[in-house]
Amino acid sequence: MVKPSMKAMRADITTLRIDAIVNAANTTLLGGGGVDGAIHRMAGPELLAECRTLGGCATGDAKITKGYKLPVRFVIHTVGPVWHGGARGEKGLLGSCYRKSLEIAQQHGIREIAFPAISTGVYGYPIEKAAQVAVATVRTTLETLVNPMQVIFCCFSERDLAEYQRALA
Ligand code: ADP
Repeated sequence: MVKPSMKAMRADITTLRIDAIVNAANTTLLGGGGVDGAIHRMAGPELLAECRTLGGCATGDAKITKGYKLPVRFVIHTVGPVWHGGARGEKGLLGSCYRKSLEIAQQHGIREIAFPAISTGVYGYPIEKAAQVAVATVRTTLETLVNPMQVIFCCFSERDLAEYQRALA
């Protein structure tokens, strides 16, 4: 029986061979730049075809698809908030991305899942603040789940990894 756990590592999320990865998508779910573009490129056009059937996704919410050509069974698409300075509910919306993604993962029997640093690229959420929200929300959500889950914070840069390690310490 696996115990719930969290760890940070530096990797390209599209290369991870686990049950599921999370995509930092936009509300259309029809692809974009950054990690979203990388995931769609690796998964192939069938991913976009399934995304088209989902009717978009609200900020703070999450939806699941298959992984297609990616080495994962599932992709969970979540839409992080755009950073406007922190007074427009950004923290609550970012926390909601992590919580909803884990709840959907649990419903699909996912035991190992990796998150990118949602909202910290084009959406401008400061990495040190985002890492704290990510770690705190995942920690409390894991306690509410019936089955244990391994969570990986997949960082694209050394700097992001350092921020997650600080938040996890
Ligand atoms: P957002 O629009 O939510 O800000 P971005 O894709 O612009 O999303 O950035 C989110 C994070 O994903 C950033 O930290 C960025 O460096 C990272 N990222 C980009 N490509 C990858 C990848 N292939 N694997 C993991 N992380 C990635």
